[in-house]
Amino acid sequence: MKRGSRPELLWGFGLNSNEAGKIEDSLGPGFFLRNFSERSLPGEDELESQEKPAATWIPQRVWKELPEARRTAYRNLESTQRILIQDETQKNVDLESVLEDGFLAVVSAPLTSSKVQDALFRAKEISGLYGDLYRMTEEIIMERELLSRKTEQLMFLNTVLSNATERLEVADILGQAVEDLKMLLPVYSVQGAFWDVLATGKHIEAEIFLNPGMMPEVQTEWTEFMIENVVALSGMDVSGYKVAETVNASESRMVYGPAAGKVLALPLISRGDKFGCLVMLCEKNIRLAKDQVSTLNAAVNHLSLALSNALMFNKIRTRADRDGLTRVFNRRSFDERLVEEFKRHQRLNTDLSLLMVDLDHFKLINDTYGHMAGDMVLEKVARLFESTFRSTDFIARYGGEEFVILLPHTNERHAHMLAKRVIKKIAATTMSYQDKSFSVTASIGVSSARPGSFEKNNEIIRKADEALYEAKAQGRNRVVVSSARPKLRIM
Ligand code: GH3
Ligand code: MG
Ligand code: MG
Repeated sequence: MKRGSRPELLWGFGLNSNEAGKIEDSLGPGFFLRNFSERSLPGEDELESQEKPAATWIPQRVWKELPEARRTAYRNLESTQRILIQDETQKNVDLESVLEDGFLAVVSAPLTSSKVQDALFRAKEISGLYGDLYRMTEEIIMERELLSRKTEQLMFLNTVLSNATERLEVADILGQAVEDLKMLLPVYSVQGAFWDVLATGKHIEAEIFLNPGMMPEVQTEWTEFMIENVVALSGMDVSGYKVAETVNASESRMVYGPAAGKVLALPLISRGDKFGCLVMLCEKNIRLAKDQVSTLNAAVNHLSLALSNALMFNKIRTRADRDGLTRVFNRRSFDERLVEEFKRHQRLNTDLSLLMVDLDHFKLINDTYGHMAGDMVLEKVARLFESTFRSTDFIARYGGEEFVILLPHTNERHAHMLAKRVIKKIAATTMSYQDKSFSVTASIGVSSARPGSFEKNNEIIRKADEALYEAKAQGRNRVVVSSARPKLRIM
């Protein structure tokens, strides 16, 4: 026995004092034999719960007397190796039945030191083999579990990737991401913020995507929270931001503020640069295992790529659809939109109106203050339109200093009112360029297509153009409605 180590435990089932004494003497102080009396042999539960013996010595006479049920229970036990002590009277044990009974070794009585030592050696050796087998089986089971988890994770990542790359709109990608991420963690919402660094190199313009249907105060909380994150992650000041909505598949509305759960704000990185952050609201006491964290990171990397592509796609599309100077839509996209809106107007029998706006004596502005001042006026007027009309109205630069505004679901009377309002606003706006201040006026021609009319779509343009011409002729800074123009008399 090694100094300080405990003796190894052995059990005996109903050994007589002779047998017990022989075993103890043969094995020395490195072993401790606990001999159970025949009447109080340990049951199955005890065998499992107690300290496991290196071996259990069972005389044949005791084994034979055991009820069959008890024997079956011991046979199937793997926790202890059993050694059969053959009765002196019984010369040849039936080896087959000994093996069937699950004994690892048989020793014949009378016991001698070498028999005892040899039997124990064999029992321990086999027990060691069993142990190895057991461990190997356990390892195989674990590997298999690990593999199936890995397969699940791969399938999850594949879903995230294919769903994200299928979509070209940031709002759609974010709306789908929450559905996909729910497979990995208990997440209530996924929102995002993205930024563009401005020419100063110190400021950014942010676009924040929030879930639809929030109460205004919850939306304010999220907006502030997102801006804080954007400032922290970009390390720059936010000079302006826009709020847009994600497109979510589920009908459920977003009711939670940032304090309702645990928020995970992860930076989005593309080609080494941070360009946004993904903000997830999760269950409050969420705990992620190490492999879940790495799967989440992989998923966010996939999303980063898809989102940066979507942002790029949007930028390119914006460039193609918009006017470079004023950033309102260009003539080409107006022509397309007019066809669409006209179809809708005819199909659904709705009102449709058009304003054609031309700045008055614009040439004079250029001549007096310079072309740059003229550009500044065009930009300012475009912003003024944006703040006057609804987001469903379509503002475009038609050419030079001429704009068109398409107003779906708007009748002539209402369009006239809006035109008068915007003309007043333009005239009341002080333009300043360098140290000079001035103002401009505009003329507007209004035309409408009534529900159920059979006009062609370019008729509405022609009528607005004629009305505009009339407004110019009447002295400018005024609105003329197409239908109100005096009809040409045919002589
Ligand atoms: P009216 O009241 O009859 O409309 O007079 P107007 O001077 O506005 O009309 P005209 O068609 O004679 O001149 C339009 C001017 O708008 C001429 C052109 O130089 C100017 N213009 C067109 N596009 C731009 C632009 O992008 N920037 C600037 N600064 N000027 C532009
Ligand atoms: Mg003009
Ligand atoms: Mg003009």
